[in-house]
Amino acid sequence: MYRTHTCGELRISDVGKEVKLSGWVQSPRDFGGMTFIDLRDRYGITQLVFNMDDDAVLCEQARKLGREFVVSVTGMVRERSNKNPNRATGDIEIEVQAMDVLNPSKVPPFTIEDDTDGGDDLRMKYRYLDLRRSPVQRNIIFRSNLALETRKYLAGQGFLEIETPFLIKSTPEGARDFVVPSRMNPGQFYALPQSPQTFKQILMVSGFDRYFQIVKCFRDEDLRADRQPEFTQIDCEMAFITQEEILNTFEGLTKYLFKTILGLDFQDFPRMSYDEAMRRFGSDKPDLRFGMEFNELNALTQNKGFGVFDSAELVVGIAAPGAAEFTRKQLDELTEWVKRPQIGAKGLVYVRCNTDGTFKSSVDKFFDEAALKGWAEKMGAQPGDMILILAGEEEKTRKQLNELRLEMGRRLGLMKAGDFKPLWVVDFPLLEWDEDTQRFYAMHHPFTSPKKEDVPRMMNGDHETMKNLRADAYDLVINGVEIGGGSIRIHDRGLQEKNFKLLGFTPEEAEAQFGFLMGAFEYGAPPHGGIAFGFDRLCAVMNGQNSIRDFIAFPKNNMGRDMMIDAPSDIHAAQLEELNLELVKEKEKK
Ligand code: ASP
Repeated sequence: MYRTHTCGELRISDVGKEVKLSGWVQSPRDFGGMTFIDLRDRYGITQLVFNMDDDAVLCEQARKLGREFVVSVTGMVRERSNKNPNRATGDIEIEVQAMDVLNPSKVPPFTIEDDTDGGDDLRMKYRYLDLRRSPVQRNIIFRSNLALETRKYLAGQGFLEIETPFLIKSTPEGARDFVVPSRMNPGQFYALPQSPQTFKQILMVSGFDRYFQIVKCFRDEDLRADRQPEFTQIDCEMAFITQEEILNTFEGLTKYLFKTILGLDFQDFPRMSYDEAMRRFGSDKPDLRFGMEFNELNALTQNKGFGVFDSAELVVGIAAPGAAEFTRKQLDELTEWVKRPQIGAKGLVYVRCNTDGTFKSSVDKFFDEAALKGWAEKMGAQPGDMILILAGEEEKTRKQLNELRLEMGRRLGLMKAGDFKPLWVVDFPLLEWDEDTQRFYAMHHPFTSPKKEDVPRMMNGDHETMKNLRADAYDLVINGVEIGGGSIRIHDRGLQEKNFKLLGFTPEEAEAQFGFLMGAFEYGAPPHGGIAFGFDRLCAVMNGQNSIRDFIAFPKNNMGRDMMIDAPSDIHAAQLEELNLELVKEKEKK
């Protein structure tokens, strides 16, 4: 037997017991007559003591141990004279009587403690060492618990967990596919699923009525902190269901997870239409931990001789609470910040609402105190606030002000960790017109149903009408992060054909790519809908973190590389040969 207890288990009540522990040497500390070692496993850390006077040979052996050696020790639990209140096992230590070195270790390339000196790349290369660090272990354990509780809840609601294939068919819609050449079908490819969307709909046609899966999805996109080429979704679909019931079911799941894992209770989630979210926050995923809502100022600011405002489609501002103290230097810096290409604003107008009731603005030449006071009143700005205004083309200006609002939220410390503000954003547009490519894109995906009342307009309306169709599509947003999204689906062949047509598919293309789904709709497809939660994101948000990487045991870096196994990699010529890739080019030529 390697151990009677774990390194996180022993307490003052265990004093006097003979125990055996196994683990990794965290930090050997040598004090001449005595050597202390912190022994670590995933449950915690226990202090070991070796005494020169008791056993000189053993003590010598302990002094030679390096960091990350794997050892097994037998000894007596005793009370510590100087206790460590920060550690669960801090009241006791083990007086070691015998030790086996199970495996030595090279000196690790970075310290394996809560705070590490290892850079990102190094830690990714030695992921097995990074995974020994307790903050990372806590994340992985959190994830495991979250998955388990998700399964419990959904199983309790009658959902079946059904696997769908990873080797499927490439479709041009959505993000870029990862493709896999098929050896047995020369010149042809599978694609890895961006989501199990069509399969879960087929399962509804088959009568499985409540499906879920905690499932890997693959998207060949550029990477960011909250994006990985492979990521995990809690993917769900329900039949004979309304949007209202779906929202309630997944609000229920969310509340259950926050309650069981974090001990938090929520009120019912507010709902906001897409239009309202865009108007009030310039974003379809507003962070509701703080206010700073948008206020449109066109009426108060235009035709007063200030060209920037006069020529703008939209003049819109926010009142940043308590920011009147910002110095000139800070404001100049903020102006530079909004002018960066990533934000793209032309400039920033500010109005300082002084605590003595006076106002000072960057446009004093054009607007007197009374005018500024009028703006402040319209915006509900208080003495001590700073009004920040952007002007320009409507859509762009809203997006820019959204970025500025978030930045002010960060700078003013309003994005409090541990504060969770969930909401549903509903009534998304069905289609999005893209000026550059002169075509419609599905706002959610091509299987999303328009609202019932919009179906006749969709079937018969003109081009402009299509821009205003609303969908039964919804997102769950927490703290400005899109946690999940879904929709009621089309279950009628004719309507689905029409949608594909609007999205620029020829009937032949639609048939080739999605004929199986439309075919299935002809054999008694029930009304259905569903949702998918980003599981990695949910883990990160529940822990108040931005990066999903820390919640994935083996993540990829920004170039999509796994640094540990060094993938992607070259393959042998013989392997390549078997795939008959040259046939692809020949086919293209024909
Ligand atoms: N398949 C969708 C997605 O991955 C979610 C859904 O509509 O259920 O975003």
